[in-house]
Amino acid sequence: MAPRPLSAAELLDAASACRGRSAAEKGIYLAALGMPDQSFGACAALPIGARDAAIVALRQTMFGDRIELSAKCPGCEARLDVAMTSAALLAIAGSATDATRAIVIDGDRFTVRPADSADLAAIGWIPDLAEARAELARRCLVPMEGAEVPPWLEEAEVDAIGAAMAAIDPAGDPFVALHCPECDGEWDAPVDIAGVLAGEIEGAADALLDEIHLLAQAYHWSEAAILALGPERRRAYLARLQQ
Ligand SMILES: [Zn+2]
Repeated sequence: MAPRPLSAAELLDAASACRGRSAAEKGIYLAALGMPDQSFGACAALPIGARDAAIVALRQTMFGDRIELSAKCPGCEARLDVAMTSAALLAIAGSATDATRAIVIDGDRFTVRPADSADLAAIGWIPDLAEARAELARRCLVPMEGAEVPPWLEEAEVDAIGAAMAAIDPAGDPFVALHCPECDGEWDAPVDIAGVLAGEIEGAADALLDEIHLLAQAYHWSEAAILALGPERRRAYLARLQQ
């Protein structure tokens, strides 16, 4: 089922739901909004790439194709404004090849599966990035033929598992290649589409609350009555208030 844009009342609810949630929780919540025929549990179990594709599709219906991001250069700390398109992000999601990939660690055979939101939630509390990455790699190892997941992994093993995860779910860790005009540095910046959409929803909800506040103050209408007016009539009344 293709997503539809949220109504004004749904936008306010979504902004409240996103505030104070972890990145993994926002991701599941927004994917479920984008796929109204899927349960919350089904959305939590989606590979991150498929989850984010649903979020991109929802975002496209609400805010259009162009995505504005800001990034900080790791070399000189200059701030950069970056624009990309939904189409570019969805193309990454569409380039997935196999569902799993085989890997051998210490003579034991494993398959590597793509990460889902439950995995991201489980590693979200680990402050050290390398440790979090190693734990994610362990979680996504599926033993074959009586093998057991090792209690810890060498850095090279974590890298190999990470490469397999990127191959089976390229959109699970999307990045945009950036160039800094100040210091000529180049790097790959991660794209957190759930965080981007949550921020936009919160911004749009704040603007809507401002409109509701002004109309309620002037006309003493209820929130529900003001939302039922629709955006054009709200703007028409607001324009009259400013005359
Ligand atoms: Zn720079």
